[in-house]
Amino acid sequence: QMIREVLSAPYDLGDRNVRLSASFGFAIHPFAGEEFDDLLKNADTALYRSKRRGRGQITVYSREIAQEMRRATQLEQALRNAIISDSIDVHFQPIVSLANNMVLGFEALARWNDPDLGFVSPAVFVPLAEERGFIDALSETLLRKAAEAALSWPRELFLSFNLSSAQLMDPGTSSSILAILTRAGLDPHRLELEITETAVMSSAETAHRIITDLRAVGVRISLDDFGTGQSSLGRLREFIFDKVKIDRAFVSRMNSDRASEHIIKAVLAMCEGLDLRVVAEGIEDHAEATKLKALGCAMGQGYYFGKPVDGAATLRYLQTHYFDLSHEREIA
Ligand code: C2E
Ligand code: CA
Ligand code: CA
Ligand code: CA
Repeated sequence: QMIREVLSAPYDLGDRNVRLSASFGFAIHPFAGEEFDDLLKNADTALYRSKRRGRGQITVYSREIAQEMRRATQLEQALRNAIISDSIDVHFQPIVSLANNMVLGFEALARWNDPDLGFVSPAVFVPLAEERGFIDALSETLLRKAAEAALSWPRELFLSFNLSSAQLMDPGTSSSILAILTRAGLDPHRLELEITETAVMSSAETAHRIITDLRAVGVRISLDDFGTGQSSLGRLREFIFDKVKIDRAFVSRMNSDRASEHIIKAVLAMCEGLDLRVVAEGIEDHAEATKLKALGCAMGQGYYFGKPVDGAATLRYLQTHYFDLSHEREIA
């Protein structure tokens, strides 16, 4: 504390005052290590955490930190093995027309059930895969599996696939996606890619090029989790999106909070003007489905219509829920 106060006192450099801020990491012998090298490494870990917490923080390497580090290493190792042994699976959740509840397509969602760790959420392992540079390998297998599954669905159904932000920074992404589609034999017109706004912003130029290349061959692009993060309406004017997915947060609050309903109405009106299709995410009950339909939202997704299930269960779902209306469509 004293060191910090001394360091953070303003220095007088003649024409201006400067303040230094210092972050500290401590590793205490013998708990945090017997050897000097271990102590230094653990002090460094503690220091890194101090810096992450903001300016002028102090962190002491603790049992909790040690445990977390072990868990992260274990998770990384298990993820690496799961990718190598091809044991990460893909499930599918229906996206329906709110007008008649007809299935229009499915979103692919990654599923990992590890023999030791149990079920690990994609919200945990996808970012880890990105951070450790496994995302390309993971995403390629997932897209291949998803595309192969989609071949046994009726031809008019689309496959929606999540792209991670790391992939939008890699100029090789569009050709690798197209190669997978070609190998699987899936028409690019049946593929939609879901991306978030943050992902587009983090590497705008590369992301735009990838999106433009893919759209040129018929792939459609959805803006995922709309309304969360640093949403800027200006982005919708760039005409790089075909669809907008309204985040679950608005849908789940819609019937209790008038502000969310107003936001949904405004998004629907805006998207109509910009010629964008809209999907409401996270619809969990009949009341939400009815309300969104009344507001004029064309499509919906959520547990109410179907939870994500594996490929075989998706085919069973289609047998009971899919009605071939292509004849009526031709007449209409
Ligand atoms: P997301 O893209 O926003 O996916 C929707 C999430 O909401 C999924 O969670 C889905 O299971 C869940 N969900 C759908 N309907 C409902 C509902 O009615 N109520 C509730 N409470 N939840 C619902 P999941 O499968 O755990 O995936 C979490 C996130 O992980 C995804 O969010 C996506 O960002 C990421 N993710 C999943 N699979 C992949 C993948 O193959 N590649 C990439 N890059 N990211 C993926
Ligand atoms: Ca998504
Ligand atoms: Ca989403
Ligand atoms: Ca999300």
